[in-house]
Amino acid sequence: MDEQKTHCMNCNSEVPAHAAACRHCGYDGQEDLEDDWEDDFDYDAFVEDEFGDRQLSSRIRPWQQFLALFLLLVFVLGFMWPFLLL
Ligand SMILES: [Zn+2]
Repeated sequence: MDEQKTHCMNCNSEVPAHAAACRHCGYDGQEDLEDDWEDDFDYDAFVEDEFGDRQLSSRIRPWQQFLALFLLLVFVLGFMWPFLLL
């Protein structure tokens, strides 16, 4: 039995040359990994990752937090200061 071997272009595992796809990672020898990614694209997961509260704190820069706090302070003081004068 003379089974030719090759190496998976994706994970470099040894796979039979005639194999349709790598048994280790499923790579099928086509340059379509990005197409597969788009086929599997989960818009809801993408939105949650980009805009979900879970990720929000890690995405905000410190200066953005400061700016938000400053604007909130200005807003609150702007609303409150006439009462403070009474
Ligand atoms: Zn592979």
